[in-house]
Amino acid sequence: MEHTWDLSFLYKGFEDEAFQADLARLPEAIAELQAILDSELPTAEKLEKLMDADEAQSLLMDRLFSFTGLTLATDANNGTAQQYEDKLSVIANDASLVGSAITRFVGGIDNLEELITRSGKLQSVAFALREMKKSAVHTIPAEIQPWILQMQLSGGSAFSQLRDKLDSTHTVEYRGETLPLPAVRGMAYDGDASVRKDAYEAEIASYRKMELPMSYCLNAIKMEARTIAKAKGYNTVLDMTLDQNRMDRETLDAMIGAIREYLPHFRRYLKAKAAYLGHKDGLPFYDLFAPVGKASKAYTIEEAREVLLREMGKFTPAMAEFMDNAFQQRWIDVYPREGKGGGAFCAGAHEYDRSLILTNFQGSFSDISTLAHELGHAWHNRCMAGLPYCLTGTPMPLAETASIFNETMLAHQVLKNATEEEKFTLMEASLMEVTQTCVDILSRYLFETEVIDTRADHAMTVDELKDCMLRAQEATYGDGLAKDVRHPYMWACKSHYYSSGYNFYNFPYAFGELFGKGVFAQYLKEGDAFVPKYNQLLRSCGSGSIAEVAASVGIDVRSADFWRASLEVVKGEIDAFCALVDKQ
Ligand SMILES: [Zn+2]
Repeated sequence: MEHTWDLSFLYKGFEDEAFQADLARLPEAIAELQAILDSELPTAEKLEKLMDADEAQSLLMDRLFSFTGLTLATDANNGTAQQYEDKLSVIANDASLVGSAITRFVGGIDNLEELITRSGKLQSVAFALREMKKSAVHTIPAEIQPWILQMQLSGGSAFSQLRDKLDSTHTVEYRGETLPLPAVRGMAYDGDASVRKDAYEAEIASYRKMELPMSYCLNAIKMEARTIAKAKGYNTVLDMTLDQNRMDRETLDAMIGAIREYLPHFRRYLKAKAAYLGHKDGLPFYDLFAPVGKASKAYTIEEAREVLLREMGKFTPAMAEFMDNAFQQRWIDVYPREGKGGGAFCAGAHEYDRSLILTNFQGSFSDISTLAHELGHAWHNRCMAGLPYCLTGTPMPLAETASIFNETMLAHQVLKNATEEEKFTLMEASLMEVTQTCVDILSRYLFETEVIDTRADHAMTVDELKDCMLRAQEATYGDGLAKDVRHPYMWACKSHYYSSGYNFYNFPYAFGELFGKGVFAQYLKEGDAFVPKYNQLLRSCGSGSIAEVAASVGIDVRSADFWRASLEVVKGEIDAFCALVDKQ
């Protein structure tokens, strides 16, 4: 069985006539959209034609970007793929200009609802049309938009690129060796305490080399975010981000408020882990990810597949069949190899009802959990099969629903038959994860809020940024972390702060984790009857606000009680973990 993914359903290669034809076709498709927009057609007819042409153009662009992007994901040094991707990015700028023009056009249609009622075609994409009408007030004025897009290339996105360059070329002096940053950060998971400590100290010392340019990147990107928010008519960067996510302030406040309430429990877990590892006053930052317990079984990919089919099939046999098929049809690129990117992701090819999954499988249980996670994304894509492309855009916070659901389901099943030793290790690994998505994410949210606010007044110095990060850690981890062994440079190593088009790339993680757990709790309550509701929830993620989509399965995300219920499950795990530590 081959364990690389098969992209031939897209194109046979860059030389493939179909690829070249599609590439040539893309600018034409964009020009056609503009021509329809400029035509004298009656409004209803123009709108129908636009939606058809837009669908075709989106699928075309998706095909081309998927092929170049996925090729690069496993072959980073493929110069041809890189060239085509650069070419496509320039064309994509034209596409987004036409996209904004369409949005403005829809925004100007006073009788939109009437047109929707009269046309079956428009009814099928009604949500997307209504969203365009609403967001028309937040498009940048047509006269200045091309200039803003151009200047972003030399502004925010240039600083983003510089950030990536600084990061990928950064080296750390560790025990006489010069190593890349990810290798040293990866040592945080090492079984040897002295390795973790030395790696942490080497990492912290290394940031001196890049702190200054990194601080300029951060200040510039957040300044641009302020400017763009203003140009789009938003009061704050956070308002713009929430709107992009179809999320309301009430929901965010309910979630953050609930996480704050449970911080003392997370700190209890951190202190218990500290005690287990022999520390007196809280956990030193370098031991946050220290492995605990001795249960570490290794699995082959075939065994991983068996575990997944057996355990996930208990949710619904269709899930097991789906996963089996993903293996058989080579949707998954399994093993690490030179030139292949780290981590894991899932990308959907909507037009073909397929997903592509990249993992770096090395045989741990956590690798199986990652597969379950990514196959959850793939299941989400499957649930959206056949929808118009404009209804497949899942807002970031909902995007992790199916993946977290799968992870939770797998852990739930596996814990049932685990030995005491295994339970201890599995439980701690899961708490380590959820502490990141709740506590660390909250610290990042507080940090980013302060940087964006301060940027109105001045660019923050390196010392100010370090101080701000330490205060954010104090407010969240509190005495769970050792006072003097924290991480003032977390802003320099997380790429999430440096996306020029997306801000607050943090709270969606907490949302995804707690929402996925909440949905799973609903499944436990309702059993098999929940399965069709769940699939429908996933299908509707691109055609409603977050609150509406959640309400379809009886969840009120604006109520703190929903978030408390998910956190209560975590608290139960913390109690159990602390009891086990006490016993030892
Ligand atoms: Zn995910």
